[in-house]
Amino acid sequence: MILRGRGISPGAFEGRAHVLDVGSWMVAASGIAATRTPAGEVERLRAALARADKQLGRVKQELRGRIQRTDAEIFTAHLSMMRDPVLMRRIEVSIEHEGLSAEAAVANAATALHEEFESSPTDMVRDKAPDVLDICHRLLLCLDPAVESESIAGEPTVLVASTLTPSELVRFAHRGPCAALTGTCGDRSHTAILARSLGVPLIAGIRGMRGIVKENSRVLLDAGRGLALVDPTPDLQAEVRRIQKAIIRIERQPDAPRQPITLDGVHVRLALNISGPTEAELVPRLGATGVGLFRTEFLYMSRSDWPDESECLAAYEATAAAMGDGELHVRLADFGADKRPEYADFPTSRNPSLGVRGVRLLLERTDILGPQVRALAAFAKRRPVSVLVPMLDTVDTLRRLRKTIARLCSVREEALPFQLGAMIEVPAAALSIEEILSEVELAAIGLNDLTQYLMAADREDEAVQQYHDGLQPAVLRLVRSVVVAGEAAAKPVSVCGELAGNPALTAALLAVGIRRFSVSRPDYGLVANLIEGLAISKLDARREDLLRAATGSEVRQILEEFAA
Ligand code: PEP
Ligand code: MG
Repeated sequence: MILRGRGISPGAFEGRAHVLDVGSWMVAASGIAATRTPAGEVERLRAALARADKQLGRVKQELRGRIQRTDAEIFTAHLSMMRDPVLMRRIEVSIEHEGLSAEAAVANAATALHEEFESSPTDMVRDKAPDVLDICHRLLLCLDPAVESESIAGEPTVLVASTLTPSELVRFAHRGPCAALTGTCGDRSHTAILARSLGVPLIAGIRGMRGIVKENSRVLLDAGRGLALVDPTPDLQAEVRRIQKAIIRIERQPDAPRQPITLDGVHVRLALNISGPTEAELVPRLGATGVGLFRTEFLYMSRSDWPDESECLAAYEATAAAMGDGELHVRLADFGADKRPEYADFPTSRNPSLGVRGVRLLLERTDILGPQVRALAAFAKRRPVSVLVPMLDTVDTLRRLRKTIARLCSVREEALPFQLGAMIEVPAAALSIEEILSEVELAAIGLNDLTQYLMAADREDEAVQQYHDGLQPAVLRLVRSVVVAGEAAAKPVSVCGELAGNPALTAALLAVGIRRFSVSRPDYGLVANLIEGLAISKLDARREDLLRAATGSEVRQILEEFAA
């Protein structure tokens, strides 16, 4: 069976289902009769509260070093929710006036409050609904450990829950490898933030899975695509193999930090794409040259309003602290198309991929650009940083941006506070690369978008995936022209985006002269392995054949000869 939902935290995974049923612990708890006087039950409740308090302190301690400090603060928020006198009073009143056990009173309060949060018209309040269940569940465990849901230790586990609480996620992530399928889970909920931080693949928005996904079912999931296979039948074998290959790609991380060197001794620079400070820790772990692409727009997604300058600066500083030395290319927030924060107050273009997005949007919204560039100016005083311009189209736009940054940072246009780099994602920019390079310090080819616009094939549309083909001669020729211009101008040209990490493209990109890659974490090890198995001299010898190929199939045939 195939289930589809929204990928909240990326990754591919295979494991056995473990169904967590919030309903069952609530029902069990609400059926527990009082065994003491109301005063005795209130006393039990307060003792449980003190135990829960201590536990939360320990959870925070355990998480230290595994996730970002700000993410661990989620449990500080739980602590204050749990200590909220209004909640406690509500539970105590049910004990005193209805003669309920502490367990039943907690379960009733959990149900009522959860419903109130879930039906709120505000996303931020709805996102906190699992936190209500979480703290009430913890209180119940502290009242009577017997109500804890059974658990599987150590085995790769796919948690299946209509609502997954942050504590449940952390508990299972500590026990062994896990992923999760949930009914509700907001993109900005604490569960989502922790899943991304802990590297737990998570798909949300799957309706009606209770009863369908049975305990111990075999589940494979590709969270990036929001796709899960449950007890796959033989007709789904192709999809099963695809997911298993993706898992191998993720698992084949290099054992020791390394930078790849080709068989004939050429050093190829391999950097990392990141979307937040936590991922920057991987730079020293993998041995990457640095961060080749920091997609800063994701910093805006787990918030409820636009960040100010100090908040932007704090994120860059946290990134620098986590990664240490090395190149750092921070892309200005690339909003538009599929990327917009919930609180975004800009209109959606008629065709979002061809509308006001990337640098065009920033030029219209200096209230968004201002805090970012001022924070980058302050940051650049402390450490070298290059600032990438997303979706650059023309030199006209580049000049307007320079002027705007100079005004926002109160400096002269010739003395911008940081190096500028152009993202080459629009064919017009690739065709003006010489002029662009004369006005910036580096270029980063965003191969996903460049292929999308060159091939007129939406990168998100399954129906045209065969046309979104980075191995078309037209794509390789355009990339080559950017490389040649970079060499002539003696300015670095890198290639980034998900296509840069696609192993099918590695040899072709090296052959057209790319020596700098920036890839996502799951692709790092595999791309490094591939580079180490190739000789630049042999690839160079076939460059002209690749560029003169008439078809994508011819390109593939030449690449197969290499592989052989
Ligand atoms: C790209 O388009 O290849 C790129 C790097 O940008 P993004 O994937 O963030 O659009
Ligand atoms: Mg792009």
